[in-house]
Amino acid sequence: MGAFADLKPILVVALGGNALIKKGQAGTIDEQFANLRLPVRQIARLSRHWRLIITHGNGPQVGNLLLQQECCDQVPKLPLEILVAQTEGQIGYMIESSLDEALMEMDIAYRPLITLITYVVVNDNDPAFAAPDKPIGPVFSEMEVAALPYPTMKTAKGWRRVVASPDPVTIVEKREIRQLMEMDFIVICCGGGGIPVIRHGRAFEGVDAVIDKDLASARLALEVGADMLLIVTDVAGAMRDYGAPGETLLRRIGVPEARRHLAAGHFPPGSMGPKVAACIRFMEGGGLRAAITSLETVLEAVGDSGVGTQFTRNSIE
Ligand code: ADP
Ligand code: MG
Repeated sequence: MGAFADLKPILVVALGGNALIKKGQAGTIDEQFANLRLPVRQIARLSRHWRLIITHGNGPQVGNLLLQQECCDQVPKLPLEILVAQTEGQIGYMIESSLDEALMEMDIAYRPLITLITYVVVNDNDPAFAAPDKPIGPVFSEMEVAALPYPTMKTAKGWRRVVASPDPVTIVEKREIRQLMEMDFIVICCGGGGIPVIRHGRAFEGVDAVIDKDLASARLALEVGADMLLIVTDVAGAMRDYGAPGETLLRRIGVPEARRHLAAGHFPPGSMGPKVAACIRFMEGGGLRAAITSLETVLEAVGDSGVGTQFTRNSIE
């Protein structure tokens, strides 16, 4: 760290969708601001001892924008990359203003805050492009689906549009984020996994895809040299036999065991799978600490009490 050795360690907090909209809520702006208070007040407290990067999901918000587009033929339809950019702006604004307010209310020293529209490079030959499987946006009837100009899939909820979810290769703004870290900014970035772009020489082209926000957060955490990755969701942590009678919370788990459980199907794609994969990647890439926890226990999971699922590099079995 050289000249910046006196700076605080860096924590990347990845907020899940329920930090803004809880299951069953309509997702009004009042609800979203109210929900944000719980995580944001804990994050404000953490700012005393950590330099902070906040990332977040955007599933329900981008879903609503897609639905708005389906409902209106009077304005041109926008591609997904533009909708991701919109949600980075709207959610970044909500987090930034809530955090600013919490810092003042709690009488915590002023910290500069900034939201970055983030591009994330993906490979145009990523196998995900050949088999889009990430459902997004509204549910359609079988009749409606026939007329849609994009790939769809029958999901548990009904017919939905599917897009590719390619692996994040690199965060385009990593140098800028590192500089902001050196200046002790709290940075909100990689919202919704970031805007997926393919690089053509020096130019970037946005693509119709979505990047998993947990995998993007792990990539970012490694690229900025973060000390800890914390993934915040709506369950206490990663569980074995989730939803089955003997389900158990994995409190401490070594990367080798995590790999094994992932391969055995304990952590499904699209929900717990990418969170565990993100923690594995971060630890294997040289990260010191990774954990998965619920919104209620952000502070505890960062402290020494070891709440949630805490990853260790070596096997603990
Ligand atoms: P987020 O918006 O935080 O990314 P997700 O819905 O993507 O939330 O992932 C969290 C969900 O993963 C939980 O609500 C839970 O239903 C589901 N889940 C699936 N398998 C597991 C598991 N093995 N342990 C814990 N939760 C699991
Ligand atoms: Mg998720």
